[in-house]
Amino acid sequence: MAKIAFLGLGNMGGPMSANLANAGHEVAGFDVVPEARDKAAAAGVTPFESAAEVAKGAEVIITMLPNGALVEQVVREVLDAEDVPRLFIDSSTIAVAEAREIASLVEDAGSRFLDAPVSGGVAGSQAGTLAFMVGGSKEAFDEAHSILEPMAKSVTHCGATGNGQAVKACNNMILAVQQIVLAEAIVLGERLGLEHQAFYDVVSNATGNSWSLSVNAPVPDVVPTSPANHDFAPGFSSALMLKDLKLAMASAEETGTDTELGRIAAQQYGAFVDEGNGGLDFSAIINEVRNRR
Ligand code: NAD
Repeated sequence: MAKIAFLGLGNMGGPMSANLANAGHEVAGFDVVPEARDKAAAAGVTPFESAAEVAKGAEVIITMLPNGALVEQVVREVLDAEDVPRLFIDSSTIAVAEAREIASLVEDAGSRFLDAPVSGGVAGSQAGTLAFMVGGSKEAFDEAHSILEPMAKSVTHCGATGNGQAVKACNNMILAVQQIVLAEAIVLGERLGLEHQAFYDVVSNATGNSWSLSVNAPVPDVVPTSPANHDFAPGFSSALMLKDLKLAMASAEETGTDTELGRIAAQQYGAFVDEGNGGLDFSAIINEVRNRR
């Protein structure tokens, strides 16, 4: 069992750190918000008051923070401290370029870095069924595998540093576009007189099927667990989808890739969030489609 320092005990990091503690690891945690520390402490995580303190004596450090600037800030704090953990795993969603820069900082200090973003949302973090997509060396991946396991349904090595973030950005760009085109098709079907159930029964068994329909259907009653059945409480919020689309668009620009549908999706989620819908599940974009004329 490993000595793990976990930084960022929020909606995702709180349950993830609890699952590591439940698996028998020695988990120390830090969050700038005292309530997050208290909640993690109640779940078996030993709370500390700073990044430097929590990392003291830890073999592995896991970060689950809102953005790349914060990841870099805490990584620098830990690298400046006395004891530097040998393996850094960042599960936050950040830019590919940021992950590669932070990896250089860590490797210059003689430790290993993996970017290991996740999909599966808060429900997956609670159930220990996240999908981890990991970038970094094979040696670091092999070392991290047993650490990630108690939090995971799958752990996939995607190649060099930054590739975890790269595949996450690509996946979520596909997802956003699919959720929008599905909404357009459902609204078109409504206006042609089609019942939601008939639409679902055919499309979910046909070539137009997707996770957006079979799990996240944006109309009530066809998939009982989808956010549309409870006023679009997330799930995966529109604000987080917009964040991920912006990261994908930054990578598209850096690589000179024309991702036209991704760009339209980013514009549409941008407008949806600007109108105050950031807290709704991203499948609520169907409301925007209904209002278009
Ligand atoms: P969150 O805001 O609930 O949690 C982030 C935590 O980091 C907060 O508790 C905050 O207080 C803490 N924090 C901020 N600065 C800190 C610092 N300097 N030191 C220590 N703690 C600090 O966010 P979340 O939903 O848990 O998301 C975390 C990351 O996971 C994000 O990068 C997000 O994009 C990604 N993600 C989220 C989901 C989801 O469904 N929520 C799904 C996949 C990926």
